[in-house]
Amino acid sequence: MSAREADSIEGQRIPPTIPYARQHIDEDDIAAVVSALRGDWLTQGPTVARFEEALAERCSAPYCVAVSSGTAALHLACIAAGVSEGGAGITADITFVASANGVRYAGGDVAFADIDASTGLVRADSMVRAAERLLERERRPQVFIPVDFSGSVADLPAVRAAASRYGASVIEDAAHALGATYESEGQTYSSGSCAHSDFAILSFHPVKHITTLEGGAVLARDEGAYRELLELRSHGVTRDPRRLARYDGPWYYEQRRLGFHYRISDVQCALGLNQLTKLDRLIARRRALAEHYDEALRARGLMAWLDPIRGSRSVHHLYVLSLRSLPGEPLAAIAARRLRLYNQLRERGILTQVHYIPLHRQPDLASSGETEQLFPDATRYYAGCLSIPLFPSMSDSDVVRVVDALSEIVPSLSAPVERPHLRG
Ligand SMILES: *Cc1c(COP(=O)(O)O)cnc(C)c1O
Repeated sequence: MSAREADSIEGQRIPPTIPYARQHIDEDDIAAVVSALRGDWLTQGPTVARFEEALAERCSAPYCVAVSSGTAALHLACIAAGVSEGGAGITADITFVASANGVRYAGGDVAFADIDASTGLVRADSMVRAAERLLERERRPQVFIPVDFSGSVADLPAVRAAASRYGASVIEDAAHALGATYESEGQTYSSGSCAHSDFAILSFHPVKHITTLEGGAVLARDEGAYRELLELRSHGVTRDPRRLARYDGPWYYEQRRLGFHYRISDVQCALGLNQLTKLDRLIARRRALAEHYDEALRARGLMAWLDPIRGSRSVHHLYVLSLRSLPGEPLAAIAARRLRLYNQLRERGILTQVHYIPLHRQPDLASSGETEQLFPDATRYYAGCLSIPLFPSMSDSDVVRVVDALSEIVPSLSAPVERPHLRG
């Protein structure tokens, strides 16, 4: 009989499942959506532009275009960055597939860069090696896409320096890092500011810092690129008199190139605007929970087995644990321990996730000869990583429940496997 069955037999309440992530929706968010639904515009009204202005201000970026998803944002940013057939882009080996797919949609090939296994962040020197591999394949590296993994900003100044050696643009994938900051030469910058990139993208999927249900945004530094993004978002169509080849009347518009229907709606932006007003509170709560995890793991002596992955000044999109290796332990054994940890947490109602499967392992992305030995740190990291629950509405007692479960499970996973007894 499992402990849970015993609990239910004794009539005790089985604690509810804790997901690894969850949206944060308050009554005032619901009121904002209801009020938008009662208004004059559902789709293309004034709230889209208000949301864009608020995002640009929050990120200290010159321009912002809100779109239907973070993936759409990556696609449009890749086009605006000049990715084309025969060209290519470079992103981290550890990220969501969308980081690479923007390049693919725009007709380019992809190569991957290894990470620093202690932070999960992409390494600029490895991006340079990926660029060299692309050149050997006669593909021109046109864009570098660093990822702000788990809520810390990638080393954007180093990535920009690397990209400029190839005349490539930089798109910061800031889907995990809305509200984060980073330092360079004594100055503080915001993620998404485009201070060390040409573009940055955000996602408003429910697991991210703020949500518009589905949604995303491209932040841009250059006005010309901004105008191009606006057109690409909506069929490649413009009404801007300065861009029209002719003018038939006030109804007139022109399709100047093949664009997309990647628009976000006014109702979604009403939700996004309201969510943005509480971003600081949501980040503060995530930081408090992460500190609580840090302290509880330390207090239980679990840091001997588990190593939290984190860069500096994180806004804690994720709380990723990495299983430390036992002396001489092969990767397959670490991966087996991670699987047991995942399953045993799940049995206790605690859902975890793996962020991420290295892109070089994806059958559709690996075609280009990006093989495992190029990514030793990503491979090591992937074997032992596990993201434990972290979201603003988690309670302090949820954190204690997760850490209690970890201290029950982890030391037993790490105990040497029992040998069968020899008769004698
Ligand atoms: C969520 C995410 C995206 C894409 O977001 P969608 O809005 O789901 O399309 C891109 N990159 C990273 C790193 C993400 O986590």
